[in-house]
Amino acid sequence: MTDGTVTVVRPRLEPFTHTAAPTRIVFGRGALARIGDEVERLGCRRALVLTTPQQREQGIELVAALGSLAAGAFDGATMHTPVAVTEEATVRLAELDADCVVAFGGGSTTGLGKAVASRTGVPQVVVPTTYAGSEVTPILGETEGGVKTTRSGPEILPDTVIYDPDLTDGLPVPLSVTSGLNAMAHALEGLYARDGSPVFSAFAEQGLRAFHDALPALLDHPGDQDARDLALYGAWMCGTVLGGVGMSIHHKICHTLGGSLDLPHAETHAVLLPHTIGYVAEAAADALIPAVDIFDDPLGAALFDFASSLRAPQRLRDLGVAESDLDTVTDLALAKPYWSPRPLEHQGIRSVLHDAWAGKRPS
Ligand code: NAD
Repeated sequence: MTDGTVTVVRPRLEPFTHTAAPTRIVFGRGALARIGDEVERLGCRRALVLTTPQQREQGIELVAALGSLAAGAFDGATMHTPVAVTEEATVRLAELDADCVVAFGGGSTTGLGKAVASRTGVPQVVVPTTYAGSEVTPILGETEGGVKTTRSGPEILPDTVIYDPDLTDGLPVPLSVTSGLNAMAHALEGLYARDGSPVFSAFAEQGLRAFHDALPALLDHPGDQDARDLALYGAWMCGTVLGGVGMSIHHKICHTLGGSLDLPHAETHAVLLPHTIGYVAEAAADALIPAVDIFDDPLGAALFDFASSLRAPQRLRDLGVAESDLDTVTDLALAKPYWSPRPLEHQGIRSVLHDAWAGKRPS
């Protein structure tokens, strides 16, 4: 400036409320070695270790590492948290006289831990091995008789999360990519949430930046430990946003698709993300500025290019969706009204779905 003064433009702070979740976070390479201390810290002596069948061996190793603090293992965790599996695990908990659960794995195993803990009141420790983010949310989706019901409450929120990036070094690259894009969806929707706060927006921005930097590095070097650390940190950031604020159009469409057509969770998020965010990008332009700064403008196209560079799935048709399914999914997605920064109308949602089905780059 000619007179030597500098004008600083500060962002305007709107009034907000913010509630921080009480979950204890233990983060770092080798953190799993602290599992025993963390179980004892919760006043527990007999942990039931939960895994999927695919991660059974790691569950057995964890039981050995816990030694006398382990009551046993249950390896029946599976997608969509079926109530029948939860009941089986709950019976196992009682038979073994276990006093807490340790969920080791991705969002499916975390879901089982939440379901058991919320029914029995036992404390829960989660050891995440993907980037889904469920471990820091008070949300649980369960299925029974083909119907998925989602509920939320403080009894569902895990007590302690141990983030140990060592456990993600072997996460296959395609799963790392789709899981990372799933996490990014929480952050992007968190930026324009009606009940957001500057704190959650800061978490969202950090989470997005972490995945922006980490995922391309992992594509070339899946064992890049710095990138793995960053991605898991991003998962915590993005998951915290999901746990703290309301989601909108993107999560609604993904849940509708996933629930009605039984689609894979992370892949569905990965395919839809550029299209749903593209749909609201103009309407939520101010809130999405941090994301545009990271990914570029227009945001929908930039996210499409980012996903494409990561070789993520980009077409719903490749996930087994038929073009004839799109009308039904549109009707289902619009059946219950919900808030969106851009009003939802049939033609717009149908074209979001069609573009995602065909893999068309958002304009
Ligand atoms: P997942 O938990 O279903 O895991 C997919 C597969 O990858 C499983 O076989 C698992 O054993 C395996 N796996 C996990 N970590 C691995 C690793 N490090 N190396 C090799 N294999 C590994 O997948 P996800 O995407 O983590 O979770 C999806 C589920 O989580 C969905 O059911 C979704 O609804 C739920 N979810 C819930 C919330 C919530 O807040 N309630 C949030 C996000 C996701």
